[in-house]
Amino acid sequence: MAAQPAQQIPGVYHRKIGDIVVTAISDGYLDGTLDVMRNVDLTKAEQALRDAFRPARRTSVNAFLIHSKGRLALVDTGSGNYLQPSAGFVQRNLAAAGIDPKSIDTVLLTHMHPDHSAGLTDMTNGQLLFPNAELVMHENEPAHWFDDGEMAKADERSQKLYFLAGREQVAPYRNRTRLFRQGEVFPGVTAVPSLGHTPGHTAFLVASGSDQLMIWGDTVHVPEVQTMYPEAGMAFDTDLAAAAAARKHMFDRVSADGVLVAGMHLHVPAFSRLARRRDAYALIPEAWVHGMD
Ligand SMILES: [Zn+2]
Repeated sequence: MAAQPAQQIPGVYHRKIGDIVVTAISDGYLDGTLDVMRNVDLTKAEQALRDAFRPARRTSVNAFLIHSKGRLALVDTGSGNYLQPSAGFVQRNLAAAGIDPKSIDTVLLTHMHPDHSAGLTDMTNGQLLFPNAELVMHENEPAHWFDDGEMAKADERSQKLYFLAGREQVAPYRNRTRLFRQGEVFPGVTAVPSLGHTPGHTAFLVASGSDQLMIWGDTVHVPEVQTMYPEAGMAFDTDLAAAAAARKHMFDRVSADGVLVAGMHLHVPAFSRLARRRDAYALIPEAWVHGMD
C-alpha cells in the first residue's frame, strides 16, 4: 500500500530575473479576522474574501533570497517565534533550499515589524541568526522604532509588539547596520521607499538586463481586499493615509508597466502581476516556471 504523505514539501521557489536568481522562502502564515482593517466597509471586505473563496483572513508571510554577482542577500527574515506557530519557518525553508545562513552577506529589511525582523536574532541565547550579514534598512526605521517619545504615544500592545520586539531583534546588529535613504543597496537591487505603512517602509526593485521584479514589501496585507479597495489599510499602519497613497502609487506603477511583483504577504510563491480593472485591480499569479535559464 502506498503511504500518504504526512508532511508538506518545502515552501521554496526560484525565479530568474536576468542574471539574478530570486528565491521565495515561505515563513508560513498568520490567521485572523478582518477587524484589523481600516478605511473599508468590513461587510464589503468580508464579501471580497468570500468571492475569493477564502473563509477568513490568511496572511502569508514570505522572505526572498537574492543571488546576485556572487553575493547573497535575504530580504526580511520572517517572524521567528514571535507570532503564531503557523509561521516562523524561514530557517527551515532556507535549509530546504540548501542555504547556510552563514553564507548570507546582507539582510535587507523592508521595515521593522515582527513578521519581517523577528527572524534576525535567537532571543534564547542572543545569537545572530545571520552572523555574517550586514543589516540594511531605511534610515527612518530605527529612527522611529528606537524613539522613546514615539513609543510613549503607542498603546501597550504596540509598544511590545512593534517597538520593543523590533529593538531587541535589531540591536545585536548595531555594529553591522547600514542605513539608506534610496538608491542601489545591493548589486542589482534598488531601494524604492514606499513610506506610510511604517516611516521607512521600502520596496526593493531587482533589475538585470531587461528583467525586473518589484519586491513590494507590505504594499498589501490582505491582497483579496486591498486590490479591490486600494484605500483599505491596517490598524498597524503608522500613517494610514500615507500608506494608502503609497499603495495606490505602487499599484499604478506596476500595473501600467506590467512589472512582475512579489510581496511579503502575497500567497506563496508570490510572483504575480497586477492588472487594472476599472477602479480596482486584480493580482494574477504567474504560472510555474521550470527552467532556470
Ligand atoms: Zn508585514
